Amino acid sequence: NVRTPWPEAGTTRLNSIDKIMKVLVTGGAGYIGSHTVRQLVKTGADVTVLDNMVYGHIGAIVDPEVKLVKGDLGDASVVYPLLMTGNFDAVIHFAAYINVGESVQNPLKYYMNNIARPLVLLGAMQAAGVKRFVFSSTCATYGVPTQIPIPETEKQDPINPYGSSKYMLEKVCKDCDRAWGLKSVFLRYFNASGCSVDGLIGEDHEPETHLIPNILLTLTGEKEYIEVFGTDYDTPDGTCIRDYIHVDDLADAHLKAVDYLMKGGSTECFNLGTGLGLSVREILETAEKVTGKKIPVRYGPRREGDPPRLIANPAKAKEILGWEAQCKDANKIVETAWKWMTGPRGGHY
Ligand code: UDP
Repeated sequence: NVRTPWPEAGTTRLNSIDKIMKVLVTGGAGYIGSHTVRQLVKTGADVTVLDNMVYGHIGAIVDPEVKLVKGDLGDASVVYPLLMTGNFDAVIHFAAYINVGESVQNPLKYYMNNIARPLVLLGAMQAAGVKRFVFSSTCATYGVPTQIPIPETEKQDPINPYGSSKYMLEKVCKDCDRAWGLKSVFLRYFNASGCSVDGLIGEDHEPETHLIPNILLTLTGEKEYIEVFGTDYDTPDGTCIRDYIHVDDLADAHLKAVDYLMKGGSTECFNLGTGLGLSVREILETAEKVTGKKIPVRYGPRREGDPPRLIANPAKAKEILGWEAQCKDANKIVETAWKWMTGPRGGHY
């Protein structure tokens, strides 16, 4: 049984609401989106999810009061009527393609989906006068950083089309601020990981490319082995170092970002991480400890587009949003992921 990593998960109150807040969540049937939707519902918000269901899962939306609009945010015939009639206080925009390797192979897919289609959504927001936007950005916008831990003042210089697509949409939003007063919060995620503490929703990507689920899939028999991408990095054990942040902590930051915008906050960016870095080998050790099983590992070459070390300096989010990761223990992150994998759904919707 998984212990509750932190008692308050999902109980944040949005203290700026004096009425039922209406929020549109694009990609709300996806991994981070669905965890955020559950937390929004707990605050009493009126939540509409817009998801084209290409990668989203109907089973990831567990609260019956959530309205699901099945459609694409690049489809003007869907988003204009939705925004014009929805009376939304804010839009939280998750819907995006997220696979770095694929973005290198197929950049146009990423620029189409992560930039071109969201322009239609932003156009509909402008037409409807909806001026609060919380955007899922990424530490990949920094490329290979010059400072560790990374502050938001680090130069953004992405090294793959995925990171570029997120960087470009940040720039579009800033231009929209100048032109028509769109106020955006760019949340630059580090490595989203773990699953809801109750095991009801979790991470189910097809194909799965992320480290922690791929490690655990070797134990459920879905994968034969985990390949470690590169052992010759300039890090203490030669494998890449990342800042793994629990998905419910990320979700909480979205609620705080909406609250910040409701109180008149200006366009800002925030790094969302724990400030702690773990190597691929350390995550493997953690997974063996948590599951009590030996992980079948193979050592392979580096994966294209992977910087050696990405660790957040999350001080700005604490100072301005009042947000801080509550889960700073990789054991607990892996425990929640393992609970999802071994739960009734077996890690799949
Ligand atoms: N990684 C790995 N094997 C895998 C998946 C990932 O060695 O099957 C490594 C990857 O090179 C990176 C780290 O694990 O250093 C985290 O990768 P992930 O894809 O989970 O997240 P990303 O850092 O790309 O956002």
